[in-house]
Amino acid sequence: MNLNKLMLQVEAKHPNEKEYLQAVREVLSTIEDVYNEHPEFEKAKIAERLVEPDRIFTFKVVWTDDRGEVQTNLGYRIQFNNIIGPYKGGLRFHPSVNPSILKFLGFEQIFKNALTTLPMGGAKGGSDFDPKGKSDSEVMRFCQAFMMELWRYIGPDTDVPAGDIGVGGREIGYLYGMYRKLARENTGVLTGKNLEFGGSLIRPEATGFGGLYFTKQMLETAGMDIKGKTIAISGFGNVAWGAALKATEMGAKVVTISGPDGYIYDENGIEGEKIDYMLELRATCNDIVSPYAEKFGAKFIAGKKPWEVKADIALPCATQNELNENDAKLLIANGVKCVAEISNMGCTPEAIEQFINNKIMYGPGKAVNAGGVATSGLEMTQNAMHISWTAEEVDAKLQQIMNDIHTACVKYGKQPDGYINYMKGANVAGFLKVAKAMLAQGIV
Ligand code: NAP
Repeated sequence: MNLNKLMLQVEAKHPNEKEYLQAVREVLSTIEDVYNEHPEFEKAKIAERLVEPDRIFTFKVVWTDDRGEVQTNLGYRIQFNNIIGPYKGGLRFHPSVNPSILKFLGFEQIFKNALTTLPMGGAKGGSDFDPKGKSDSEVMRFCQAFMMELWRYIGPDTDVPAGDIGVGGREIGYLYGMYRKLARENTGVLTGKNLEFGGSLIRPEATGFGGLYFTKQMLETAGMDIKGKTIAISGFGNVAWGAALKATEMGAKVVTISGPDGYIYDENGIEGEKIDYMLELRATCNDIVSPYAEKFGAKFIAGKKPWEVKADIALPCATQNELNENDAKLLIANGVKCVAEISNMGCTPEAIEQFINNKIMYGPGKAVNAGGVATSGLEMTQNAMHISWTAEEVDAKLQQIMNDIHTACVKYGKQPDGYINYMKGANVAGFLKVAKAMLAQGIV
């Protein structure tokens, strides 16, 4: 099969879904060699079957705001592929949410979840609801109305949602409360729960921690130490917080975080109480990062992204396509050694091309940020076994999983000249596992 031809068909079928097409194009372009080495994949039309989701649910979410006005939002759940385990993937609440964004995230999730070595399929969901500026009661009423629709499609062995942008512990709590009431069962149907009702230790930190374990491995494989390195981080949400925490613990210096208003440059390093302040900032400052500068005497650069600073390591931690070709050129000119996406699809294809052509270490989101969903998988295991592991136990398992993902990326991504193409490695390793499972289970 010429996978280019398949790509053209997918483009013709979904012409307006640019993020989804971008994610599919990246995977198809990197698996072609291995696909053609296995004629049985072509015979079973594995690629054609993989690129379309199993099903998409779209539903209306009606709720009442604090002024008594009725509001209507759209809700979605995209169940992409459950060949290796129950559908699993986060819920995103952000005004930009649309089917293309959720399909890209759901598609990537298939390979990411396969890489974790845990039995989880790929899914994603969410709503165009904007939690920003909403009261607690409004968020609760929205989450309850959302779950009134979603609950019939999910279950602990069917589909297990989690958090993502705009969905943290608070939202998961409200969603879980309504699910429990409707389904009359207390099972691990959502992950990212509070510790009091089945959550796992380390889950809030897991995506950022896992990202740093992976980054450290990348550097060590290239004979470098993360200690003493300067790191530029974007975003100041859950993932940016976990990443900053682990990076400073590893002896690196984090010099930037960013928000929709611009970025902070703190030459003294963002550490200790400054990292804790990120959470406070997010909860109280209506999503602007500039108050950090006043509080800690750092620089605030309005309307710019942090990729213009001199840094050894760049960690996109906010959203998709947040680092473009120009940003990549700036980072390279400033001597960046490693770029690891902790956000999903943080770099544009042109930026990735820059890194790979210039032999800069580049780690794709589906490998680097897999620690989040992996720890969700560990939460599912603890719920199913009715036990709780200690933070040390969860962290040890997370480190082992990130090590295994790194090993798989090196195995399939190492080039003849020694450069490791982590993008190719992650795509091939994830794809092979899913494709073999699809073959073994027949045409279903
Ligand atoms: P979060 O706590 O809600 O923070 C998200 C950050 O990204 C905020 O600073 C947000 O600012 C910014 N952002 C979101 N959408 C944006 C857009 N369209 N344009 C510009 N900025 C935008 O979410 P998070 O959990 O940290 O997630 C961050 C990234 O990590 C996402 O790519 C997510 O898919 C990925 N990820 C998360 C997990 C997890 O466990 N949470 C796991 C794997 C991957 P605004 O709200 O002002 O736009």
